[in-house]
Amino acid sequence: MSQEKTAAAPSRHASVGTAVPVTLIPGDGIGPEVTNAAKRVLEAAGARIEWHEHIAGKQVFLAGNRTGVPQETLDSIASTRVALKGPLETPIGYGGKSANVTLRKLFETYGNTRPARTIPGIATPFSHRNIDMVVVRENVEDLYAGIEHMQTPGVAQCLKLISQKGCEKISRLAFEVARAEGRRTVTCVTKANIMKLTEGMLKRTFEAVATEYPDIEAQYMLVDNCAHQLVRSPESFDVLVTTNMNGDILSDLVSGLVGGLGIAPGANLGKHAAIFEAVHGTAPDIAGQDKANPTATLLSAVMMLRHLGQFEVADKVDKAVALTLEKGPRTGDISGDQPPCGTQAFTDAVIANL
Ligand code: NAD
Repeated sequence: MSQEKTAAAPSRHASVGTAVPVTLIPGDGIGPEVTNAAKRVLEAAGARIEWHEHIAGKQVFLAGNRTGVPQETLDSIASTRVALKGPLETPIGYGGKSANVTLRKLFETYGNTRPARTIPGIATPFSHRNIDMVVVRENVEDLYAGIEHMQTPGVAQCLKLISQKGCEKISRLAFEVARAEGRRTVTCVTKANIMKLTEGMLKRTFEAVATEYPDIEAQYMLVDNCAHQLVRSPESFDVLVTTNMNGDILSDLVSGLVGGLGIAPGANLGKHAAIFEAVHGTAPDIAGQDKANPTATLLSAVMMLRHLGQFEVADKVDKAVALTLEKGPRTGDISGDQPPCGTQAFTDAVIANL
């Protein structure tokens, strides 16, 4: 079993006291509103960041670039190795695949970590449960590798691609996340009973990697049972590691347990770059109306600050967001029976609570 280093290690900027360069991609739909909120809060909190703003997504596709990501944006991420990104739209009829998939593949951000925890002040049917988990999703393989074609007229085929190396890297990342965050259990989730070679490869590799982490308890669960258990006893999960499509679906389920897409952050981690972004998309139904909840992007920025080694600023922003969510005001997606506030007013309240 190879000992390749995982992305969990801090970046090369970890100990730097001066401003570090970070690529900022505002993105489409609500992207500019929520990334601007993050920029304002981080600046007010004293984060040592030098923003390098670049475009990607809809306007790039419409201008004729079939990847949706201009070379200058790629060069910037290659140089800074850290990006905060808004959601991107791939307009129908333009480009072969989404700009997000292009970024994940080019920078080999093989691990997608999506934390979810019970947040005081956000009412859900699960508010009284002490939920605190991280979904670690494989990010570049599986059915999302983009190998899909018409086999014969009326029959389409999509290939499920799983590699042993990919399974090793994602398993190790999950155990490293558990260790770094003082967590006790990692649960591997697959459909290995049906897809014995592909999904089974993650199960077997996970079991081998687990022997290197005797301090962490390793568990195994089938994905259908996992979906059931996540609703029955969400507080019993700690770190979940799973294949790309399982992780995509389960992580949305998990974000729903604690308050929805407006508060769900994420990180795409690779050996050479880390791209931080909310789980949600461009939300075209509320774009440009000052209605978007910037919490998911703010919490993604908190993950980014920790990756950069700026732990004090990260804690400060994390606490200010938590205090604002607890006391209010809150945006419409989580305001319950209270009057909703706008994106700007919520951001102002977070800054006032720093
Ligand atoms: P979506 O996440 O954009 O929206 C789903 C629902 O959640 C909508 O009702 C929306 O208003 C709400 N919502 C999402 N984020 C919110 C926020 N921060 N505050 C308040 N409400 C919020 O999902 P969708 O509608 O399926 O996708 C829209 C577009 O986004 C599509 O083009 C899709 O391809 C793209 N997308 C991009 C990314 C990404 O760039 N990472 C991820 C997912 C979807």
